Amino acid sequence: MPKKIAIKIDVDTKRGYEQGVPNMLDVFQKNGIKATFFFSMGPDNSGKAIRRIFRKGFLAKMLRTKAPSTYGLKTMMYGTVLPAPLIVEPNTAPFLRAMADGHDCGIHCWDHVYWQDKLPGLSEEKIRLHLTKACHLFEKIAHRKPRFCGAPGWQTTYKSLKVQQELGFDFCSDVRGYYPFYPIMEGKEFSPLQIPGTLLTMDEVLGIMGVTENNIVDYWLKNCDSIWNVFTIHAEMEGLSKLAVLGDFIVRAKAQGFEFVLLKEGKNLPNIKKCRVYAGNLPGRAGTVALQSDPLN
Ligand SMILES: [Zn+2]
Repeated sequence: MPKKIAIKIDVDTKRGYEQGVPNMLDVFQKNGIKATFFFSMGPDNSGKAIRRIFRKGFLAKMLRTKAPSTYGLKTMMYGTVLPAPLIVEPNTAPFLRAMADGHDCGIHCWDHVYWQDKLPGLSEEKIRLHLTKACHLFEKIAHRKPRFCGAPGWQTTYKSLKVQQELGFDFCSDVRGYYPFYPIMEGKEFSPLQIPGTLLTMDEVLGIMGVTENNIVDYWLKNCDSIWNVFTIHAEMEGLSKLAVLGDFIVRAKAQGFEFVLLKEGKNLPNIKKCRVYAGNLPGRAGTVALQSDPLN
């Protein structure tokens, strides 16, 4: 079996959507590969993420990854000093091109910052309202229902998994882990398969463990599994100032015999087990994320 990498792209901001997505589509086209996009469908409230400065580790990460130059100053003021602009609706071209180019497209969220900061306290009704809004807009533009979603910031609760199951997704990618699995949270099993992100992301490793922009591709390739990898990238980073790193990663991974596949191929892997989803820490990331436990069966 060839060793596989599925690229998962999180589109979090208006700038990442309008500029980063087309840049990435060019890179994928040039290299003849397909990827899986997760779109933030509603408002860009990035400025409100400044609140997270008060959370341990966030400021260090922002400085380490040179966030103002990566995200752009304007993006960092959306939702506070500047009103929060809608991301997809005023300009459907990047979304439609991703679809037309044969990439798999799904939902990241309605409002990234809202989900990432407030999910633990959200009722099922609130979660349903937000995801339904995102699904409706997706359907209006794509003329079909979204088949999958992936939670912002890998923030997941029992309630969010329940609502995602109700919405009938084929699979979800809300968790960090090592291999696709059937999720169990708070003792309850959920039917949509979880296809977790496996590699650490650029913002998690850049500037620590001796990883720099010059050797990050070595770091990722060294940490790739010989069967299955999910490589999460961001339209705001690998689609903009770090575009060259993305191209380099693809070329060198292909040279090492990796095949680039859609995330949904994770459904066809053998020996898929049940695992618990729990909140834990990752190196280089502030706060907790949803993690995959060891197999239960
Ligand atoms: Zn995101």
